[in-house]
Amino acid sequence: YRMAQMKLAKKQRKLRHKVSGSRNYQKQQKRIARVYRHISNQRKDYLHKLSTATAKQYAYVCVEDLNMRSLSNKGFGNGKATLDNGYGMFLFMLDYKLEERGGKLVKVDKFFPSSQICHCCGCRNPKVRDLRIREWICPDCGAVHDRDTNTAINIRTEGMRLVAA
Ligand SMILES: [Zn+2]
Repeated sequence: YRMAQMKLAKKQRKLRHKVSGSRNYQKQQKRIARVYRHISNQRKDYLHKLSTATAKQYAYVCVEDLNMRSLSNKGFGNGKATLDNGYGMFLFMLDYKLEERGGKLVKVDKFFPSSQICHCCGCRNPKVRDLRIREWICPDCGAVHDRDTNTAINIRTEGMRLVAA
């Protein structure tokens, strides 16, 4: 994927040196379109493999129903990477593949404070809202949390609660 990105940049650079609208310009445009198609196919192929493997391994997958627009904003610091990875496309594929197998993609509301709840004792710690905090200690029960792991456990718990309800 990164190789294709580099190729694309190079071809786009070449395009700038050609006379706009000329025969060579059009030819170069076609070459660029071909690289775009290749990148798009590469991504789809990867996402299909990943979503198929996930749907085979699990009956229920719980995810945070993230707003794609807010993901691309600066808060996450990796907006481009997130969108490039086609997270939305991945969820779309995973959704129907799980459905086909009688499972379900469970979306947990984005307002559910998944990162702030201690999965050990259930207390809520709003101080950890800051995304820079990667690890924290629960002030109530003293459990040591890795931010992402704790968040994932909370999303699973909430998702399975929704399924049961
Ligand atoms: Zn706790």
